[in-house]
Formats: sequence, C-alpha cells, structure tokens
Amino acid sequence: MQTIETYDFSGKKALIRVDFNVPLNEQFEITDDTRMTAALPTLNTILAKGGAVIVMSHLGRPKKGPEDKFSLRHLVPHLSALLGGKEVKMAPDCIGEATKAMAAALKPGEVLVLENLRFHPEEEGGDEEFARQLSELGDVWVNDAFGTAHRAHASTAVMAKFFPHDKLFGLLVASEVESLDKVLKAPKRPFTAIMGGSKVSSKITIIENLLNSVDHLIIGGGMTYTFVKAQGGKIGGSICEDDYLELAKELLKKAEAKGVKFHFAVDVLEADAFAETANTKVVPANAIDDNWSGLDVGPETIRNFSKVISESNTILWNGPVGVFEMDKFAGGTKAIGEAIATATAKGAFSLVGGGDSVAAVNKFGLAEKVSYISTAGGAMLEYLEGRVLPGIAAVQE
Ligand code: AMP
Repeated sequence: MQTIETYDFSGKKALIRVDFNVPLNEQFEITDDTRMTAALPTLNTILAKGGAVIVMSHLGRPKKGPEDKFSLRHLVPHLSALLGGKEVKMAPDCIGEATKAMAAALKPGEVLVLENLRFHPEEEGGDEEFARQLSELGDVWVNDAFGTAHRAHASTAVMAKFFPHDKLFGLLVASEVESLDKVLKAPKRPFTAIMGGSKVSSKITIIENLLNSVDHLIIGGGMTYTFVKAQGGKIGGSICEDDYLELAKELLKKAEAKGVKFHFAVDVLEADAFAETANTKVVPANAIDDNWSGLDVGPETIRNFSKVISESNTILWNGPVGVFEMDKFAGGTKAIGEAIATATAKGAFSLVGGGDSVAAVNKFGLAEKVSYISTAGGAMLEYLEGRVLPGIAAVQE
C-alpha cells in the first residue's frame, strides 16, 4: 500500500481530510489547537514533497446550512501561523464553481482551506454525488482524520471510490492504525488489557472482543462492583448495574473457556461520601459496608495488578481504576500508570486510549512514558470492539 512517504506528490493537489473540529470561544479564538497541530506533519510532508494542500474538515454541529460561528475561516490565521507564516487561502464553500476555480488555480506548495463540510447535509449522509464533487478538486485523497474514521461520511470514506489508485492514510491515521494493530492483531505475549471506568455497560463489547486476544484482563473502577455482586459479594452503595449481572457471569464463563485470566480487585478503598473530605477504609472488595462505596482499589490489589502488568509485553489501558479526579481516590490509577510506564521502559508496548485514561496519564506526568496515546475516542473504541471503520477500510480496500 502507498504511504505519504512513498507517494509522489509533485505537481499534485492533495485533498486532505483532517479533524479540525477544535473548540472556539465566543471571540472565535481557538482554545485548544491539539487537533490542528496533530495534522501538521501530514500537511508539511505533502508541501515539502511538492504538493498543493486542500484542507477539508467539519467544525461543530451546524444544523441547517452555513452558520458563521462554524466557519473554518476562523481557523485560517492560526493555521497560517502553524505553517510558519505561509499564506492560507479560504474557499467560499467546499463545492461549487468558485471553490473549484480556487482549487484549480492552486500551485505546488500552496494551501487552500475548504469551508465546513457539514454546511452540506450530504456530508454526513455519505452522499455519493457530493463526494464526487469534492473529489473533483484534487488528484489524491488523504485521510488524516482518525476521530471520524468510524463514520461513513462523504469526505471520510465515500470519496475513496473516486481515487482508486490515489488514496492514502495521513501520518496521524497511519500511526493510530499501526499502534492499534500492534495490540489487536499481533500482540507480543503476554498481552494484558486493563479496563476501568464507571460502567460495565459501555465496555461490554470491547471486553467480549478482547477475550479473543488477551491473556490477562484486569478489571478496575466502578465496573468492578457489577462483577463482585454477580459473584455474591457485598458492595454497599458502590456503583452497580443490576441489569448486567447475568452478562457479567457470562463473561466470566467465556473467559474461562478461552483461557483468559480475569483479575479483579481483592481489596478496595471504601468511602462514606463521594468527596475529598470523605472518611475512608481499606476493606475486602466483596465486603463493603452498607452506605459506603468503593472508590479506588486497595494496596493488595495494586500489588497484584502491578505484578501482572510488569510481566506483560503488550498492554492496553482504557479507563481509570478509581475516581482519580479526586486525589484521595487517585492512588490506584496512578500506580497502574506507573506500572505501565515501568513495563514500557523494560520493552513492553503500551497503548493508552479513551478520554479518561489519557487524562490520567497526563495528570500523573506519564504521557512520555507509554508507547502510544490514542486520543481518537469513539473511533478507537469501535476499533477495539472489532468493528470495521469505514474511513480505514476505504483506504485499505
Ligand atoms: P468511563 O467514562 O466509563 O471510562 O468512566 C470514567 C469515570 O469512571 C471517571 O470519571 C472515574 O471517576 C469513574 N470511576 C472510576 N472508578 C469508579 C468507582 N469505583 N466508582 C465510581 N466511579 C468511578
């Protein structure tokens, strides 16, 4: 498969789907430009290789047609600054004669930003005619928007059919796919997944899919208590989803049948209130006092989990093992992050993904000590669930 590195961009116009869906304040100033900086390597590489760059993105959720507050125009000065002061042209729309003329006039090394794709409902509708009109603007389609890779929209997937030989992943998407595949398709064993967070319901499909590939599955956080209750334990006022008790039991059986070792908390830090000021006690995970709740894992659990992690060669972490936003209940999550960092330093490949675990590694200063951080949210979770992502498949087919 062609990559950005192997493709000859000289004299070509590259239509690059990026995710520039950045937050803006009331003065239309960008309050977090992470998504823009993430696309820079792709833009710079193509410009350096003699291509012209046509940037396509959505911004916000426009309801019906153009709305000034969602105009990509607000991003142009900052994009120009990020590109070292290069002039960035702004198209009046993403399709139509005027836009077509601007694209046609674009020279190698120049940059044109198309107006918000979602000003046209055909974008999210995956309309083929709209995709065809977009495709007319350039010679090669580059998908560098992993955050929307799970959507079969016109610019994220459908337009691939108009570029049968000229479709590529951008560097950001390529590294996401490579890292996720390292974990999901060819893990070095033992492979351990750590699943945390508040609810088992939101992670069930991922857990089921991971049972096909992991050796160890560590369960932490709020979902612990659905499993503990399912096995007859006393969970006090801990978070629990009673509708999922049977499913929890089924997962335990499936894991056993597949030879996957489940690891649960043996002790927890229980609290008499959901607050920093709460009184706390370490108790067995299946003997939580009435009206108290388990809000973090206990010291013996930390030792057990850390041992499993330290012996692993591939590690996937999704979701905190306690209410890490409060310092009082952050100890378990911090320790897990540190165990992953230590294993990574010894040569394991570690991937951290999902909003809250990313927030946790950042909070504990561990971002540089894990192998890869996926920030793609929904798209990453769907990939972990084993689903085919239209934006990925469109390039690979
Ligand atoms: P999720 O969005 O499902 O990944 O859940 C993340 C949230 O789970 C975080 O905000 C944590 O505070 C929360 N969480 C972790 N452990 C617990 C727990 N034992 N009880 C309640 N919430 C928890």
